Amino acid sequence: MAAETEGLRLPLYCPLVVDGEEGKAASGRRFARENPANVREVATVAEEGTQEDARAAIDAARAAFDSNAGNWIYNGKLREQVLSRTARLVRDNADRLARVVSLEVGMPMRQATPHIAAAADIFEFYAGLAGKLYGESFTLPSGSMINLVKEPVGVVGMITPWNFPLTQTARKVAPAIAAGCTIVIKPASYTPAATYELVKLIQQTGLPKGVLNLVPGPGAVVGAEIIASKKVDKISFTGETGTGKRIGAQAGMEVKRVSLELGGKAPYLIFDDADVEAAARAAIFGMFRNAGQACGATTRLLVQQGIHEKFLSRVAELTRKIEVGHPSKPSTDMGPLISATQERVVQEYIQYGVDKGFRLVTGGHKPSGPGYDDGYYVEPTIFDGVDNASRLGQEEIFGPVVAVTTFRDEAEAIELANAVDFGLVAGVWSADYPRAMRVARRIRAGTVWIWDNYAQPVEGIWGGYKQSGMGRELGYHGLNDFLEIKQIFTDGTGLAMKPPYGQVIKD
Ligand code: NAD
Repeated sequence: MAAETEGLRLPLYCPLVVDGEEGKAASGRRFARENPANVREVATVAEEGTQEDARAAIDAARAAFDSNAGNWIYNGKLREQVLSRTARLVRDNADRLARVVSLEVGMPMRQATPHIAAAADIFEFYAGLAGKLYGESFTLPSGSMINLVKEPVGVVGMITPWNFPLTQTARKVAPAIAAGCTIVIKPASYTPAATYELVKLIQQTGLPKGVLNLVPGPGAVVGAEIIASKKVDKISFTGETGTGKRIGAQAGMEVKRVSLELGGKAPYLIFDDADVEAAARAAIFGMFRNAGQACGATTRLLVQQGIHEKFLSRVAELTRKIEVGHPSKPSTDMGPLISATQERVVQEYIQYGVDKGFRLVTGGHKPSGPGYDDGYYVEPTIFDGVDNASRLGQEEIFGPVVAVTTFRDEAEAIELANAVDFGLVAGVWSADYPRAMRVARRIRAGTVWIWDNYAQPVEGIWGGYKQSGMGRELGYHGLNDFLEIKQIFTDGTGLAMKPPYGQVIKD
């Protein structure tokens, strides 16, 4: 039954979008997504796409690309318009989009609102690049000419996670459009409506049919078909490292281009001379934004011995002030987790920390009181004295659980920071800038923040070292991931018998 919640008519709906048309799944089946802040409420009903649906979407994207629909590949002006119109539509619909994201993810509105603005910024940035895909040319001494032209990689299959659904989709879709690719998206099953709402806006911008297609459904069915299909030229995946490894291996068998944005276990290094107040506030932002369900979340606080007590007591004090509550409440700092499974996983990690004898500084429980039993809530939690080699120091928890470990000196700090399989992001706090820079260079991660945390301007990059991924999103580098470079060689000599031919022809 339809209900009105936080200004949205529920349940939200996510259809298939194939060849410019909205439709139903071939199976006739749908799936439901519950509201993580109130599990008795159905947030979204989505079509459950099948292998057949995925094939239809891939065929539409392939046909649009191969026929150069609407001159999509060469009309940079059109692609620029599509992107800038999308940016405007996202801004015009920001309030609704924020409510949809907040509902499906359980993200507090105070975080969902800037999340939408960040998505609009991404479309705007790539609008500026779409009409400027210059190549290079070089004339050889013989007069022959080399032209290097940039071309779209082709049909891109995008498989996205749920934790920041709009920006993660925008980071793929916007540069792919700027490059002239065509697209099939398989959204995460926790956030189909958020993805659909964005796709619906893009469809209003004058896009040729078949350029952008959406197929909600299970990863193992829809995602697997997109990865296996020979008609898909590239896979752009964001999700867990385990899933990414399988996708990378499968794509490798077909020599399919693949970019992977995977998990993290970000260290945050606090030296004795750090500004305690600034470092503590930045740490809290990285630790508990989106309830710690972020690939770049600050999960390990590595603190030098001399500042340990002072820094930790300030971080604990700020953590105790965090208001855990319903995402729609303006004062809420932290909402629920995404699912019952994730709540159980986080509680298991907390129990593991307790069993190992690590000191529970704050949190560790499910908050009690009205409303909390209806959603997947867990308190923000900090363990001190954590062995970096333990599971709390090594594994991505994807929740509000942070491990504190002390270090003696710079060498040990770098060693601990790097002693994980991941390498997505890190932070360094020291008043000694040459030291902060030295340490930043030694940490094996795609981004290192000095005196800040979780800044991700679209002009920069995002991506991981080691098992945090392959490729880079955002900025110019994010565009290059959707381009091929072709060499066109033109003879400038006019000779029928050119010197190299003598290697095979005698007269
Ligand atoms: P996930 O790997 O469970 O799912 C991601 C997507 O893959 C979903 O759409 C899912 O349906 C699909 N999928 C699952 N199994 C599949 C299969 N066998 N074949 C094809 N597709 C399949 O990840 P998640 O829980 O949605 O997201 C959380 C993870 O994403 C965390 O590990 C987080 O660190 C990571 N993440 C990374 C970044 C980054 O930029 N590096 C950003 C956000 C999230």
